[in-house]
Amino acid sequence: MDRAHRTRAHAYAHAHATDDPLRRTRTHIPGREHLPCAGGGGLYGEQVTEQPPADVSATVSDPRVRDALDAIDTAELVSQLHVLLTVPSVTGSAAESAAQHLLAEQYRQAGLDVDLWPIDLPEVTADPGFPGMEAARSEAWGRVATHHGGSDGPTVVLNGHIDVVPTCELSDWSVDPWSAQIRDGVVLGRGAADMKAGLVCQLAAVVALRRANVRLRGRVALWSVVGEEDGGLGTFATLRRGHTGELAVIAEPTDLAVVPAAAGALTFRLTVPGRSAHASVRTSGVDAMDHYLRVHQALRRLEAERNANPDPLMARWDLAWPLSVGTVRAGTWPSSVPDRVVAEGRLGVALGESVIDARSQLEAAISQLSDGDPWLGSHPVTVEWFGGQFAPGAVDAGHPVVSLVSDAHEALHGERPQLHGVPYGSDLRLLGAAGIPTVHYGPGRLRAAHAPDESVPIDQLATVTRTLVLTVAAACGTR
Ligand SMILES: [Zn+2]
Repeated sequence: MDRAHRTRAHAYAHAHATDDPLRRTRTHIPGREHLPCAGGGGLYGEQVTEQPPADVSATVSDPRVRDALDAIDTAELVSQLHVLLTVPSVTGSAAESAAQHLLAEQYRQAGLDVDLWPIDLPEVTADPGFPGMEAARSEAWGRVATHHGGSDGPTVVLNGHIDVVPTCELSDWSVDPWSAQIRDGVVLGRGAADMKAGLVCQLAAVVALRRANVRLRGRVALWSVVGEEDGGLGTFATLRRGHTGELAVIAEPTDLAVVPAAAGALTFRLTVPGRSAHASVRTSGVDAMDHYLRVHQALRRLEAERNANPDPLMARWDLAWPLSVGTVRAGTWPSSVPDRVVAEGRLGVALGESVIDARSQLEAAISQLSDGDPWLGSHPVTVEWFGGQFAPGAVDAGHPVVSLVSDAHEALHGERPQLHGVPYGSDLRLLGAAGIPTVHYGPGRLRAAHAPDESVPIDQLATVTRTLVLTVAAACGTR
């Protein structure tokens, strides 16, 4: 960190320590070493400042920033979203790579400095900290596009994943999931909410700042990442390549809320043994399905226990940490007693809970079923942890990155955005663990994500883009 930037960090620290309510309402930019994510300790200096810290209310009055805000064009946003939605960039598919190259070209055309590189999969996946991957990949690409302002301000990371989940049953859709149709004020398509609309807003915000010739003191780095849906490959590889920043906003679909906390999610596989026999003499075998049903009930009980006292940030969700089985496979033949059941699912991890503790709770609930059971006692259910392993992640709700985005939203749209946690794992925890305080803020609703007829409200595109323009300008500072 250079001297001027350090001074801004100390300016923040000084304002943060004061009881002057006026000063506390401003948003100031932290130096990363001063304000680690939740769980770390803050070190606040008392150095006298040489320049005033940035604040949202001053930045919103900057004529060039106003020009950038005024230039945001909803029709342009929708047309860019259309381009992205027609690329079926399902996690692990060839189109996931194609979409990264398409974005790289868009960013180059916007005049940004693009780092596009093939991720060394054997090397990255062998890293002990690798967060897991479920889709088989022969290639994967990383991409960071940077807008270089000055060198005396922080780097703001705008992170978004280009991969999307599969479409589920096409008959459940009323439109082609890859056609980006518009209906009743929304754009429909797989990835519309989660999270191609967010990626479009992030690029549009940087383009607006450039077009209006807003001179930033710092930099903006646009990270489009692959493999978020199946573990976090892209963000992990981007951090590993050495890209970093002082704060980050992930454009997950928050419906315009600011989200400082994301729960964890651990993928597991249970194998329940039985013994096959001809179905006509089924009692001579051991039906693995009967035992699986007991396992399933035990998982439901465990879920209820784990959700008895959720964190207040999760109050809006009926289940803060869901435990769900997504696939069940049993047997090999209709007229045979099934000799085993393989069930795969995900265990939600509470905010602040360790992954090891969460795993051992599930393992204990399963092993208790074997106690005194004539079959499971000698043929226990096995538990494996595989694929995506999302630890929970959070910044403190009082962290400056939270007030920065909230202040920017409020200054432009007239009301304080909601603040809450989300029950799913995201790249927030990887960025937080790397010392980059991070929030989610983006267009679209969580309930639309991964669902048939996924959609994003068109009016939220400009809302988010404008908030990001002001967030970046206030965070970096302008000259
Ligand atoms: Zn997402």
